[in-house]
Amino acid sequence: MIKLHNLKKVFRTEEIDTWALREVSLEVKEGEFVAIMGPSGCGKSTLLNIMGLLDVPTGGTYLLGGRDVSQLNDTERTKLRRGTIGFVFQSFNLIDELSVYENVELPLLYMGLPARERKERVMQVLDRLAMSHRRMHFPAQLSGGQQQRVAIARAVVSNPKLILADEPTGNLDSTNSKEVMDLLCQMHEQGTTVVMVTHSQHDASFADRIVELYDGQIVQHAEL
Ligand code: ADP
Repeated sequence: MIKLHNLKKVFRTEEIDTWALREVSLEVKEGEFVAIMGPSGCGKSTLLNIMGLLDVPTGGTYLLGGRDVSQLNDTERTKLRRGTIGFVFQSFNLIDELSVYENVELPLLYMGLPARERKERVMQVLDRLAMSHRRMHFPAQLSGGQQQRVAIARAVVSNPKLILADEPTGNLDSTNSKEVMDLLCQMHEQGTTVVMVTHSQHDASFADRIVELYDGQIVQHAEL
């Protein structure tokens, strides 16, 4: 599913170059659940953003589903991202002005699906996440756990092959964290590839494999 070879990322400003990723080579197989761990600032989010086609590497190669993403133009990248990846952010990233229903519907609007199919799919995923009764609510009217459930609904409504989650339980209490992890595990059991950045050993224990980053490099792989 994912093949990274000697991936590098430098953030350049006038004063300083920051090497967020020095040389990362990593393969994630279809259907695998991989947790990425490491201290703050070691490059975890940068790596996930590159995997999610939200950022571009400075060097190295990235194959997603066998396609070299550096060869794609902006339109092709956006199409590949929207058709393949569901991204879950620690801060939920919901649009405050849109209702729960409208937030979840957004990826399907981008895909150009007709209204009836959109409604069917949004209601199906909201039912599954026990959020259909809240569909007319706005994000500010929901608890953190509910907001993350909506964010996950939005990430999975297009049936992505790959879910990328950046500290999805980072802002949640233990009850809500458990719900979110249960959901990610469910997706994984249904065959979705999951890559999750986490600080939590407990959350990481649900993965097939833990990849440990330090200072922009992989320092350890651990099979679970
Ligand atoms: P982590 O997710 O492990 O906390 P990040 O990937 O966010 O680490 O950051 C890795 C390094 O890159 C850090 O030193 C961070 O300050 C730097 N960095 C991240 N994003 C930017 C940016 N947009 N501009 C400049 N430096 C950045």
